[in-house]
Amino acid sequence: CGVFGIYGDNQAALKSYWGTFSLQHRGQESAGLAVLQGEEITVHKGMGLVTEALKIEEESQRTGHAAIGHVRYSTTGESSIVNAQPLLMKTRFGLLALGQNGNLVNAQELRQRLEAEGAIFQGTTDSEVLAHLIARSHQTSFYEALRDSLQQLQGGFAFTVLTDEALYGARDPHGIRPLALGQTEDGAYLLASESCAFDVIGARYIREIDPGELITIRDKTIETDRFVNFQAPRALCSFEMIYFARPDSHMEGQSTHVVRRRLGEILAHEAPAQADLVIGVPDSSIPAAMGYAQAARLPFDFGLVKNRYVARTFIAPNQALRESGVQLKLSAVREVVEGKRLVLVDDSLVRGTTSRHLVQILRHAGATEVHMRIASPPYTDPCHYGIDTSRATELAARNMSIEEIRDMVGADSLAYLSIDGLRRGLSQEGWCMACFGAGYPVPLTNDLNVSVSA
Ligand code: 5GP
Ligand code: SF4
Ligand code: MG
Repeated sequence: CGVFGIYGDNQAALKSYWGTFSLQHRGQESAGLAVLQGEEITVHKGMGLVTEALKIEEESQRTGHAAIGHVRYSTTGESSIVNAQPLLMKTRFGLLALGQNGNLVNAQELRQRLEAEGAIFQGTTDSEVLAHLIARSHQTSFYEALRDSLQQLQGGFAFTVLTDEALYGARDPHGIRPLALGQTEDGAYLLASESCAFDVIGARYIREIDPGELITIRDKTIETDRFVNFQAPRALCSFEMIYFARPDSHMEGQSTHVVRRRLGEILAHEAPAQADLVIGVPDSSIPAAMGYAQAARLPFDFGLVKNRYVARTFIAPNQALRESGVQLKLSAVREVVEGKRLVLVDDSLVRGTTSRHLVQILRHAGATEVHMRIASPPYTDPCHYGIDTSRATELAARNMSIEEIRDMVGADSLAYLSIDGLRRGLSQEGWCMACFGAGYPVPLTNDLNVSVSA
């Protein structure tokens, strides 16, 4: 998912629309905006893309000086309008709107406790858990109730919370999910999952929200605090850098584009191939493919084209949709690949759906050899922190050897980046690499098998 928030700007709704729109790649199932006007918070939301869920004409006319926006893809809870965010709730502290990115590993446990205490849940997302924790907190102020509730959450998460008093942002103690702070030229503060959302509205990036930080934003002022009193090891999702985030975003001071190029270069040294040409899978693999080509001293070209109007295939909620998505989405350019021994670079291989299809169409277009190179390590372990790769049975590298995967996708050779190569590419310490077998930063509780869904 993607979250956005702004406080103290009289174009809050419109700016949130653009900001949220720039986070579209983070979720395409539903989108919404909550706007604060006086003491009223109203929410517009709908299914589908931002342009389908919201009307720009309406949003540009919505007055109000604070807003939060959300794009969703489901990691928990089915894809339906009750689960669309922002969530709006009335508590004894007043109205509250809430947007979440990520996933709680103890959601089931908390939900059962809350239900036993009488809470009534509307949808099936774990974001509602935070709202109910706040509503049922024994603390006397909203702020203390929020702080206290955040303390009880475990997992990878970033929240934006809007009340008639302030905009709050919080990031999980390990910093697994990203959240950044920005500011407009007029001094209004912003929160967003990725810095690209600041660029589109002409705002500047200030810094990352710290792991475990709870930030309060009012008119042109910020106050910062922590909701946990311990310092956990940093573990930003490395998959954000590998695939998920936009190439014009920065995280932890690093450009995702530059990191991807570097991963490709390292991969070329680790896994060279006898070939004539390097191609990448648009769009997310292009930087890695260019890095590979440069380091291998091979030409790079655009051998595959993407139909931009097909939504990201892995976000499609089931395998049948994903398969037809892949077919519509990518085609080969015969003039580029015909008669060539190709290195085909992809950023990741999760289920193998994409690779199998690509090898087929490249051969059909006349490629003589296809050497697959994956710019991340074998994806062996399900993610429990908000990236939808939860079903262990679907993960190719968990269930097959590399040779079996090579055979399944039909490539002449297949190699992955090593864990050590990934570490070097990310150039600093403090990443989550749990899905690559490096261990889970937040221990998993036994409700996990229940909380995952495609
Ligand atoms: P596959 O078809 O192997 O499942 O997906 C790998 C391709 O989808 C890569 O091109 C990669 O860019 C993209 N991808 C990235 N993350 C995911 C994910 O979580 N699941 C899936 N299926 N694909 C992903
Ligand atoms: Fe990201 Fe993988 Fe960690 Fe999930 S397990 S947060 S996808 S690095
Ligand atoms: Mg891809």
